[in-house]
Amino acid sequence: MASNNYHGGCLCGKVRFKITGDIRNIIYCHCSECRKAQGSAFATNGVVETGSFLYLAGENELTAYRYTDVQTRFFCKHCGSPILSVNTSKPGVVRIRLGTIDSDITERPSAHIFAASKANWDVICDELPQYDSYEPGR
Ligand SMILES: [Zn+2]
Ligand SMILES: [Zn+2]
Repeated sequence: MASNNYHGGCLCGKVRFKITGDIRNIIYCHCSECRKAQGSAFATNGVVETGSFLYLAGENELTAYRYTDVQTRFFCKHCGSPILSVNTSKPGVVRIRLGTIDSDITERPSAHIFAASKANWDVICDELPQYDSYEPGR
């Protein structure tokens, strides 16, 4: 099986990256914090092995926001696109913001989390499992 070769980047184009492995555990997160971070109804994030993620351009154009003691979020300092987060309690992986990927991807989201705190104007219209907090196993 050929490995993936996905490309993505930020809105202004200064930050470019590629992914050469699978995107695992793609989740729609409806928590209030993801809503703030994305400026939208929910975040769609997935897990990529650090070794499968490579910046092609603009790594120095990122700004880091240390969100918690363990989690840091990286976004383009020019256009504000959120790119990924890293978590020191989960070494070896990054959590990528799926909307920044330009390529068609083969993986699909598997669940809605924090569905109990979704925006009251947001309607979930698919058959994926919905969890009130994190999905089982996280
Ligand atoms: Zn940018
Ligand atoms: Zn969230």
